[in-house]
Amino acid sequence: MSDFDVIVVGAGPAGSAAALEAARAGMRVCLIERGPFPGAKNMYGGVVYGRILDTLIPNWWEEAPIQRWITRRSTMVLTDSQALTIDFRTESWGKPPYNGATTFRPDFDAWLASNAEEAGATLICSTTVTGLLRDGQRVTGVVTDRPDGELTADVVIACDGVNSFLAKEVGLYPHTDPSNFTLGVKETLALPREVIEERFAVRGDHGLDIEMLGCTGDVPGGGFLYTNAESVSIGLVLSLPQLAKGGIRPEQRLARLKEHPAIAPLIEGGEVTEYSAHVIPEAGYNMMPELISDGFLVAGDAAAMCLAAGIWLEGVNFAIGAGAAAGRTAAGAVVRGDTTADGLAGYRTRLETSFVLADHRKLRDAPHIVMSDLAQQKVPKVICGMAEQVFTVVNPDPKPGMFKILWSELRRNKMGIRDAASHGIRAARTFR
Ligand SMILES: Cc1cc2nc3c(=O)[nH]c(=O)nc-3n(C[C@H](O)[C@H](O)[C@H](O)COP(=O)(O)OP(=O)(O)OC[C@H]3O[C@@H](n4cnc5c(N)ncnc54)[C@H](O)[C@@H]3O)c2cc1C
Repeated sequence: MSDFDVIVVGAGPAGSAAALEAARAGMRVCLIERGPFPGAKNMYGGVVYGRILDTLIPNWWEEAPIQRWITRRSTMVLTDSQALTIDFRTESWGKPPYNGATTFRPDFDAWLASNAEEAGATLICSTTVTGLLRDGQRVTGVVTDRPDGELTADVVIACDGVNSFLAKEVGLYPHTDPSNFTLGVKETLALPREVIEERFAVRGDHGLDIEMLGCTGDVPGGGFLYTNAESVSIGLVLSLPQLAKGGIRPEQRLARLKEHPAIAPLIEGGEVTEYSAHVIPEAGYNMMPELISDGFLVAGDAAAMCLAAGIWLEGVNFAIGAGAAAGRTAAGAVVRGDTTADGLAGYRTRLETSFVLADHRKLRDAPHIVMSDLAQQKVPKVICGMAEQVFTVVNPDPKPGMFKILWSELRRNKMGIRDAASHGIRAARTFR
């Protein structure tokens, strides 16, 4: 008999959701985390979309460690000296069941893992899984960095995050293309609560999420600025290969963003309390590995399930959705006594019929479109240039027509009308 029915590697959102669902189904579950506690080493931008928790942890919002509920969401298009912002706010996101919330990963991940423990999972921290036990092709357990650290299980679920070496060890990732990855860098800046409320026009526990385009110079990417209770998180997401070629370090690029005239007043006086960086699997569906092998499942960033599609940067909800599906599938397979790849095939079906793979498949072209030279370099200049022309009053000249302004900006930014139209159609098809 195996030591456990299910071993989950990594107590991030995917791992804790997997352990929670498998334990609830009556499995003997071991959740292994290399950090001293779940979330200790984890970073991200800062907003969790919690509705995926509605079925896992009813009324989760009453106990989740939230900084601010996002009630205001802005998209900012920047050039070096201009900024155009689309700003949306709604009171409905400020009450149950809420929409998004800022939360710190050490708090959130530890809370989610505690739910898995309460359901009966055994959490082992400060332990790194260094390899897999195999019987032929079949995965039968894990090797850890502890003395006598081998543990056997009927199913191993790899939730070890981006660049999963466990998925690679099983041969599920045929190749790793650096252009599928971005680097995320972030600073947390402490600011008094009342300063945040005044600058960002939010009150109480409400907060703002700003996503930015056109703020990464010659490297494709994007930016973000999120409000926490008494700090803001500001960061950049940068294409890895171009970043390596560019010669300017990520923290220098972040420093430039912080000096932008539209951003500097928002963060003035903020004291840096934390700097962190992490790789993001950017290419979504097009880079996903096989998800299932004999005795083995992959979930979350380990399976590239992060959705980085311009106006959306969501990974935690996808990780929880996939982890929960993996935990349920593993439990069902153990009960049936068939944990081969065929016995675990229901995992793919579960994901296909949920938002996890449905969104990724639908938006499979989005990362490519968002990271294209046109979207990154030309579109922000055209949009901001148009705004400047529309709002500049040059009396005694009469106001130019909108089409004239559009043509002049397209020409000025060397953007062919055919090129613009074909990208526009492709984007419309992707986001329809
Ligand atoms: C800069 C940046 C900004 C982001 N912004 C957002 C955002 O605002 N909202 C959002 O929803 N998503 C965001 N994401 C994406 C999100 O962080 C990920 O999609 C999500 O964390 C994936 O969860 P996971 O559980 O799959 O992996 P992870 O969160 O990476 O967790 C993996 C866990 O496995 C552990 N582990 C790894 N290897 C081993 C091993 N060998 N043995 C034991 N333990 C191991 C790690 O310590 C970690 O706890 C962002 C990501 C970045 C980098």
